[in-house]
Amino acid sequence: MCELCEKIGGDLVWQSGLCRVVLVDDEDYPGFCRVILQRHVAEMSDLGLAEQMDMMRIVFAVEKAVRGVIFPDKINLASLGNVTPHLHWHVVPRFTSDRHFPNPIWGKALREESVPMSPGWQDLLKSQIRAVLG
Ligand SMILES: [Zn+2]
Repeated sequence: MCELCEKIGGDLVWQSGLCRVVLVDDEDYPGFCRVILQRHVAEMSDLGLAEQMDMMRIVFAVEKAVRGVIFPDKINLASLGNVTPHLHWHVVPRFTSDRHFPNPIWGKALREESVPMSPGWQDLLKSQIRAVLG
């Protein structure tokens, strides 16, 4: 059974009929969000053009909200789905001081400490994502 069909997959921030946006609970990567297609589809090219565009519009809106609240050095966008082949995009704020930088977050860790964040950033990010997505 598919994990993303059975579970929300994180802290639900926003959703439409097409996609949901969740905040991932990862203390090493504060502000890490996923945009998950609501139905079980494996690849972007399985969607029609309008849905492809709408999903990417949501990914870019989340990216913009994350940048406006977290101020990362870089954003990583990734759609892998090797473990869970249910279409989802990772929006990962990266800092040159984070545990894996410049490796992908799924690669080899290079440091121990995670990035310090100011208190209350979660609520700020959630409200910013809801504001950009309407
Ligand atoms: Zn699924």
